[in-house]
Amino acid sequence: MPERARREADFQPELRKNLVTREWVIIAKGRGRRPADFVREGESEVMRVHDDKCPFCPGNEAKTPPEVFAIRDGGRPNSSGWTVRVVPNKFAALRASGSDQVRRVGLHSARDGFGAHEVIIESPDHNKDLWEMELTQIEAVVECYWQRYLAYEARETLQHVLLFRNQGRQAGTSLVHPHSQLIAGPVMPHQLQVELQGGAAYWEYLGRCVYCALIDDEKRSGERVVMETEHFLAVTAFAGKYPFETWILPKRHAIRFPAMNEAEAEDLARVLKDVLGRLAGCLGRPSYNFAIHSAPTAEHNVRAYHWHIEIFPRITTLGGFELGSDIYINVVAPEDAARYLRESDPPS
Ligand SMILES: [Zn+2]
Ligand SMILES: [Zn+2]
Ligand SMILES: [Zn+2]
Repeated sequence: MPERARREADFQPELRKNLVTREWVIIAKGRGRRPADFVREGESEVMRVHDDKCPFCPGNEAKTPPEVFAIRDGGRPNSSGWTVRVVPNKFAALRASGSDQVRRVGLHSARDGFGAHEVIIESPDHNKDLWEMELTQIEAVVECYWQRYLAYEARETLQHVLLFRNQGRQAGTSLVHPHSQLIAGPVMPHQLQVELQGGAAYWEYLGRCVYCALIDDEKRSGERVVMETEHFLAVTAFAGKYPFETWILPKRHAIRFPAMNEAEAEDLARVLKDVLGRLAGCLGRPSYNFAIHSAPTAEHNVRAYHWHIEIFPRITTLGGFELGSDIYINVVAPEDAARYLRESDPPS
């Protein structure tokens, strides 16, 4: 039987429900897509450690807006000598100027694009993905995430802070120099709203945190566990929308990312290095996004939430069914993805 026909015969679709958001996805069990099917040839070009034209490379500090935060061994602000550097995004999606009032536009509502958009330049080296950096460098990045979250937590007018990272062309990166971004805005993202509602509903019916329950269940079955450390568990999502979608869950219940203590922060650096390295090894340095989901800063009585990181490898393209129905088809069973990831090492 030709390969294609064999695969179609094996295709066993299963509908699965996300425990938190209650969204359904279609998981293509038995379809047999292997990691090698997703590797794009010639994707990763060889890059130098320094690029004179790159605004994020040391020596080019004047090409960015003035820094708002940096971890540096020496040098004055906006000069070289930094380990991690944070600057406002020159092409900000949201800006600090403007009003936070909603206004009417006919039937519609609108408001100024009020908020903040920062770039966290993760390393002086131009050519490394996060997992390729020394552990101490990744620890500095995590420290920086933590500091910037805290800086925005106090601002009552900004409902929500999202920290995210785009790696590679399929993930929407415009600059290759390793960086993450922070957007703080006056409105709550839909995704977070749905997760908060799901967490609250679960707590109401079952008297506990849905993510804590998930951690216990995943540890018990082990089927979707990618790796585990003292403070974190990394699993492929049971009803993941994307192939190899991986969640990093802190074992200690905490609603907000900045609640992390020093030992947990150091451990998180190790987990990011390990998990992103496995994805890079398994899928040939795929493009990916990750986002840190944390309870909104402006909500004061949330208890049924549990911060976490969601990683989305961008190895498939969305089609009309996904865009039209919001039901995703995931062509790799999460149990298979976890097994591949457990067996894989970072690229040499
Ligand atoms: Zn650079
Ligand atoms: Zn919890
Ligand atoms: Zn989430």
